[in-house]
Amino acid sequence: MSEERLEPSSATQIDWFASSTDRERQLRAEREQSKLPLGPLDVVHVFWLAGMSCDGCSIAVLGATSPPIEQLLSGSIPGAPKIVLHHPVLSVEAGKAFVRNFEMAERNELGVPYVVAFEGSVADERLAAQSGGYWSALGAEEQEDGSHRPIPTADWLGRLAPNAAAVLAVGTCATWGGVPAAAGNPTGSMSVMDYLGSDYRSSYGLPVVNLPGCSPIGDNITETVMTILLFLQGLGPLPEFDELGRPAWLFQSTVHQQCGRAGFYEEGTFAEHYGEKECLVEVGCWGPVVQCNITARGAINHMGGCMNTGGICIGCTMPGFPDRFAPFYKTPPGSTLSSNSSRLVGSFIRPLRRITQEFQNREPGWGATKDVPSGWGHVKRPSVAKRVVHALYERYQFLGSRKPGDSPYTGGGES
Ligand code: SF4
Repeated sequence: MSEERLEPSSATQIDWFASSTDRERQLRAEREQSKLPLGPLDVVHVFWLAGMSCDGCSIAVLGATSPPIEQLLSGSIPGAPKIVLHHPVLSVEAGKAFVRNFEMAERNELGVPYVVAFEGSVADERLAAQSGGYWSALGAEEQEDGSHRPIPTADWLGRLAPNAAAVLAVGTCATWGGVPAAAGNPTGSMSVMDYLGSDYRSSYGLPVVNLPGCSPIGDNITETVMTILLFLQGLGPLPEFDELGRPAWLFQSTVHQQCGRAGFYEEGTFAEHYGEKECLVEVGCWGPVVQCNITARGAINHMGGCMNTGGICIGCTMPGFPDRFAPFYKTPPGSTLSSNSSRLVGSFIRPLRRITQEFQNREPGWGATKDVPSGWGHVKRPSVAKRVVHALYERYQFLGSRKPGDSPYTGGGES
């Protein structure tokens, strides 16, 4: 790569066939490059590496809507720098020009901060090397004998992490090891933080940021990137992370606490088969102990998401996934106590709530005029027992306060 490319004076001298990193430098050569600035930044590079991965995390981030990746890449979010993404699948450049971006980052030649995003678990490449192979690689480098050796993405992680402003482990395989690290795996796979070690800190002093999920929610990824960018920009505080390096505001609640079926659980009604609307705990849902916001946020654009669409929670965001949640589709042991408690309490509460619901389903005026001026609403009058229960309920409801009007039944005798 010629040095002339790195000495721009105007946009007309841009070499549009250079790597994206070179183009950025040509466009912004006047930027002071001797040290990493703490904002305001125009550009931040993101180097996306894939280890033992299914690419699901890449698909997830493409579906993000708040903010969408298009806005991050175009630099159209006020206050946020533009992201230059180097992605093995999404980048349009290929071959040497693509790998050159990684080489420049390794040599600390970018002149602007960069972030490493790692998708998939980190395989033990020493095992693959024993048979002359590799598990996952990006680019190749020439050996002394003239041959070329694929560069494992694990090596790239080790090379880029020390100077990175932040390292993001994207998805459960990267955060905790996930499926490739499950019992019996032959790859020696591990998480990004286990690979980098307990002493690892980024150039900004951050341990690995963990964004679990299989796949993670795209908005969780872009929102976390956005908060880190605003921090780098000097416009926001360092985002709060929990004791496992997860964005605290995204992972502090359990699936169950935000689940649309939690009301069924509380009233003690449970699905016996898939496709039923009640709580799914007895067909294998681990939601009460799993930290994840899928039920609140949905999968893409606030739609979908496991329990929202009839699936159970199998704990995919948790460090113990998958082995500690096996066997899937079997009732979690803890629910024997908790769901039976709900069932017992619910057997009292449910009928009482239905009585209240029956009375609150009537307009107050219908009782006052003894008329229901509608084609609807001509329902059977509640039984004496129910009216007694509701009279007591109302007495308690308006204890110490003035009742706004007659009850449809106790005040007007509607038929
Ligand atoms: Fe909780 Fe799962 Fe039931 Fe939802 S389906 S209420 S997460 S146990």
